[in-house]
Amino acid sequence: MRAFKRAAEPEVLQKNGEQWGNEWATRKAKDPSAKFHWHEQDGESVNKILLPLLETQTQAHCSFCDCYAADTDTIEHFQPKSTHPKLAFQWDNLYLCCHRCQRKGEKFDEALLRPDAEGYDFNRYFRWSYTRGHLLPNENATADDQKRAQTTIALYQLNIRHPHLRCIARKLRKRCKDMPLDEFPYRNFIDPKPVDNTTRKSK
Ligand SMILES: [Zn+2]
Repeated sequence: MRAFKRAAEPEVLQKNGEQWGNEWATRKAKDPSAKFHWHEQDGESVNKILLPLLETQTQAHCSFCDCYAADTDTIEHFQPKSTHPKLAFQWDNLYLCCHRCQRKGEKFDEALLRPDAEGYDFNRYFRWSYTRGHLLPNENATADDQKRAQTTIALYQLNIRHPHLRCIARKLRKRCKDMPLDEFPYRNFIDPKPVDNTTRKSK
């Protein structure tokens, strides 16, 4: 999970986010089986408007497992939209997320780490086991930081895809030879340092 800086809240959410969240909360309270949908703005679904902005922040990598592009095209509600409906359209609750990390579903824990949180740094909380291909809590971290890392690994199931990660790395080794590090399928595995978003043009 690589640190990133969150961009300014887009206008569509500044204008409508709170109202849409309140409407969704009311609908959900009346009918617990109500299905969530993204609103439309000028004929375009809001999630389609937000996706390119979210992709720029993480260079199109998943915010949690850091896998690249092909499998990274959904938006995660960090605090779930079923239990925190008012936050459903709040910018800082939305993260670019791959399908596998989306399997976290409606689970939430206050200990979960956010990659854009003030003071978040990969090395503070995690380390890679390069021999096992596993993400581990940093054993030199405080007990609380280790618990947060463990909770994040468990809820997003960050180690379950590691055999997959290694297989991708092997398959793509040839193709990746000259690939910029930012675009490596799991760049976090080979370089956990964050990218400076401010000097990079959006795609
Ligand atoms: Zn992911």
